[in-house]
Amino acid sequence: MSTHTAKPLAGRVAVVTGASSGIGEATAEKLAGLGARVVVLARRAERLADLVARIEQRGGSAVAIAADVTDPAAVRAAADRVAAELGGADLLFNNAGVMLPAPVEELATAQWQQQIDLNVSGLMNVIGAFTPQLVAAAAERGVADLVNTSSIAALNIFPTFAVYSATKAYVTHLSRHLRAELGAKQVRVSAIEPGIVGTELQSHVTDRGALDWLAGAKDAMEWLTPEDVAETVGFLAALPPRVNLQQVTIMPTGQAS
Ligand code: NDP
Repeated sequence: MSTHTAKPLAGRVAVVTGASSGIGEATAEKLAGLGARVVVLARRAERLADLVARIEQRGGSAVAIAADVTDPAAVRAAADRVAAELGGADLLFNNAGVMLPAPVEELATAQWQQQIDLNVSGLMNVIGAFTPQLVAAAAERGVADLVNTSSIAALNIFPTFAVYSATKAYVTHLSRHLRAELGAKQVRVSAIEPGIVGTELQSHVTDRGALDWLAGAKDAMEWLTPEDVAETVGFLAALPPRVNLQQVTIMPTGQAS
């Protein structure tokens, strides 16, 4: 494998969750462009079908699986399909997530649960279903990748974002542990920690204070694009098998923290 060939991911099978918009969508396109066969997973089937068509138009290969990652049975069925149709995944971009800030005293318990269900339990459903495939692929081919989308919120302090930030702290800490555990089996584990990226993530926010803060941040700086993050995922997956970028923090140049 070389970072210098035009298609450094040729022969690889990449599963991307949260692929119907934002960072996941851009990363699916990037990985397909680098030669991987890509499995795109999210709930909105139509968006996935459009993405597959776009990838195929450009000469890439993609398969859509509409599934809710908070449903363990649906995720297991998706993994079975990837095994049967593509021989298993060797790259997993575990990226689906939701951010719903609100002052803790508002007791927005449904939104707390939604974030925990997706960002923590959904993430684990996907890890549980696909890790056996990653380990098998690494044993056969010498490398596989588990890339989890965390956030700068994993470490930094954002009042009213406590629950979201705590779910992302989970993602980063989990990733560091899994790297230590799976590295011995040639599975590289990375956590990507972006600052603000312009995606649909912000459109789900309902809290007035957070919406005002986001509007101010939009005026104050140029946000990252999903393609900026996709570039990073493509880069780390194409590195030689001995190199594991453990944690990548990617900030808008103008964002202080
Ligand atoms: P988007 O809202 O654009 O993407 C979220 C994706 O997750 C969508 O494809 C959505 O698809 C999917 N998704 C949501 N719920 C489920 C579910 N239950 N099952 C399967 N898929 C689901 O936001 P981003 O691209 O920004 O978010 C991607 C990741 O990046 C998230 O983990 C987010 O926390 C993280 N992040 C984002 C930052 C930003 O500023 N944008 C900064 C730091 C981290 P569908 O609705 O079709 O299921």
